[in-house]
Amino acid sequence: MENLDWKNIGFGYRKTNFNIRCWYKNGEWGPLEVSDSEYLNLHMAATCLHYGQEAFEGLKAFMGKDGKVRVFRMEDNARRMQSSSEGILMAEVPTELFCEAVGLAVKKNMEFVPPHGSGASLYIRPLLIGTGPEIGVKPSGEYLFMVFVMPVGPYFPEGFKPTELVILRKYDRAAPQGTGKYKVGGNYAASLVAGKKAKAGHYSAVLYLDSREKKYIDECGPANFFAIKDDTYITPLSDSVLPSITNMSLMQLAEDMGLKVERRKVPVEELESFQEVGACGTAAVISPIKRIYDEDLDKEYLYGFDPGPWSTKLYQKLQGIQYGDEPDTHGWTTVIE
Ligand SMILES: *Cc1c(COP(=O)(O)O)cnc(C)c1O
Repeated sequence: MENLDWKNIGFGYRKTNFNIRCWYKNGEWGPLEVSDSEYLNLHMAATCLHYGQEAFEGLKAFMGKDGKVRVFRMEDNARRMQSSSEGILMAEVPTELFCEAVGLAVKKNMEFVPPHGSGASLYIRPLLIGTGPEIGVKPSGEYLFMVFVMPVGPYFPEGFKPTELVILRKYDRAAPQGTGKYKVGGNYAASLVAGKKAKAGHYSAVLYLDSREKKYIDECGPANFFAIKDDTYITPLSDSVLPSITNMSLMQLAEDMGLKVERRKVPVEELESFQEVGACGTAAVISPIKRIYDEDLDKEYLYGFDPGPWSTKLYQKLQGIQYGDEPDTHGWTTVIE
């Protein structure tokens, strides 16, 4: 794949050679199948199409200087997909099966893993859908688990640059006891209108507040929220936030670096006192925030035009581990051979 412009390929669907599929029928998972088709043959009454029985994951593989390909924390993605399955009553993909499928998907598309130093990586998308035909509202008896991959460019092709968020109280992403903590497509459908509004105003995402009281910070669209204040890493504790594996990793690295880590309710007014603010997730690792605009109160919070020192350190450390440039002291990476 020498001909790809790795730095500028962006984040979009791109065809690769193979994808991995596994069917759940009669109460058990079948063998992994390797497919070269981009299409599925689905029953028109499949529960994923009508009642949202769909969960996905997102993780990445990175080419090291040593020529080894490392996948980041895939067992954690397996566990999170199991939690999503529990949340919307789908068959669970065992961790071993999940990891085997991810490994095989990477192996079958090795030539698409971007070279070390390009800042690009191989994005891995596991998907679980209910495929059995039902018209009454009930869980499917049959499921398809798939893994496909695609090379994606660096999130910041022009360098690590802060963006802006907007608070729009009129919209909720997830209900307090709803599906916010599961990685399911329904949450994304529910966020499209607010997301479009944010993009139209040139904001990178909506900063959602808790749906019940609109008093506490929840998360930033498809990424978790964190802030730094007085040598403390602060991130919201909420039942409707998706447990980000990047955020979990940053909390650990912050602790390693001597920061205090607080996972607690974060009142909106506290935005005033933060020294650094960021959104975190697999796509960008950290997307530093320079400004948050509260549209309802016509109020703005400013954090400086350059990424803060702690955000920069955390970002470099985590990327270093992912690319194999830094020692993986927590055992987060798996080399695919
Ligand atoms: C996937 C996702 C994240 C980020 O999780 P990572 O495991 O860090 O990629 C954050 N919020 C939402 C809503 C998500 O779907």
